[in-house]
Amino acid sequence: MAVRAAVLPAIGAPLEITGIELPDPGPGQVRVRLAAAGVCHSDLSLSNGTMRVPVPAVLGHEGAGTVVAVGEGVTHVSPGTQVVLNWAPSCGSCHACTLGEVWLCANALGGAADVYARTTDGTALHPGLNVAAFAEETVVAAACVLPLPEGVPLADAALLGCAVLTGYGAVHHAARVREGETVAVFGVGGVGLATLQSARIAGASRVIAVDVSPGKEELARAAGATDYVLASDTTAREIRALTGKQGVDVSVECAGRAVSIRAAWDATRRGGRTTVVGIGGKEEQVTFNALEIFHWGRTLSGCVYGNTDPARDLPVLAAHVREGRLDLSALVTERIGLEGIPAAFENMLAGRGGRALVLF
Ligand SMILES: [Zn+2]
Ligand SMILES: [Zn+2]
Repeated sequence: MAVRAAVLPAIGAPLEITGIELPDPGPGQVRVRLAAAGVCHSDLSLSNGTMRVPVPAVLGHEGAGTVVAVGEGVTHVSPGTQVVLNWAPSCGSCHACTLGEVWLCANALGGAADVYARTTDGTALHPGLNVAAFAEETVVAAACVLPLPEGVPLADAALLGCAVLTGYGAVHHAARVREGETVAVFGVGGVGLATLQSARIAGASRVIAVDVSPGKEELARAAGATDYVLASDTTAREIRALTGKQGVDVSVECAGRAVSIRAAWDATRRGGRTTVVGIGGKEEQVTFNALEIFHWGRTLSGCVYGNTDPARDLPVLAAHVREGRLDLSALVTERIGLEGIPAAFENMLAGRGGRALVLF
């Protein structure tokens, strides 16, 4: 039986809502009925070619749902299990995995080359970032499903799969924010909001949100921002003024833009940490002079999927949700159907809103 999906027919082409046919799950595979899928900036980057996956594809990599069937050899979930999708399953045997850096697994996106489904007229489809969550149902490798701990609403749980793991991991694993430190967060989208909440959870004494849009102040403050700075040429100077002229202990950049990476670096105190979460394009060049790298003694680091091990962090995040410290629904500014994804992309390009959540 066909299910509805948003198909990317070619790079740069508009999404098409169409019927797709999924095979029964084979050995080591799981079929999942989606409850919800978040629209992440990476989906936009994949659809316009900033990042590449084989096409035609079904995008969507931040999802949660219920297992409807399992293939041979799958034991950790069964029909009826509520699950969060993990778009970057680790292989356990590459160099990064053996070092415990599973977020850098060399084989995480190996599944993107596979044909996982076909449109009802027979066109072969690739599964975007492994999980193809922009569809009513999907078939994924067993390693791509993590059982959802109790006490987290299933639709909200979709956000755990990318935005929240990324924002939480940026604060707790990459920047290792300590209680009492000051934090600036550049870019108040889904990941930025999760980063703000995570800085609050870490006990940051001051959390400064930065965005180009004045309309996001209320959202940012609700997520834990104590201050809001409208991005401009003087952003770094304003942040230093808010922190006794020193700069913040930690800057987290969630926009992937050269100008905000540079501002995040300039806003960091001497010896502090600048963590880049945003995914920018190759044309975004950031420059530093040799003297300032020495003088400021800052650490500049990238951060992939929150430098997180999803299987380890999901129970931690669920506990934060249950105990009221992490508010998943506060990240969602729009609840839409599959037809709403193109408009959600437009909103992202225009810098409007937090996360759009597709509800099935
Ligand atoms: Zn994402
Ligand atoms: Zn690996």
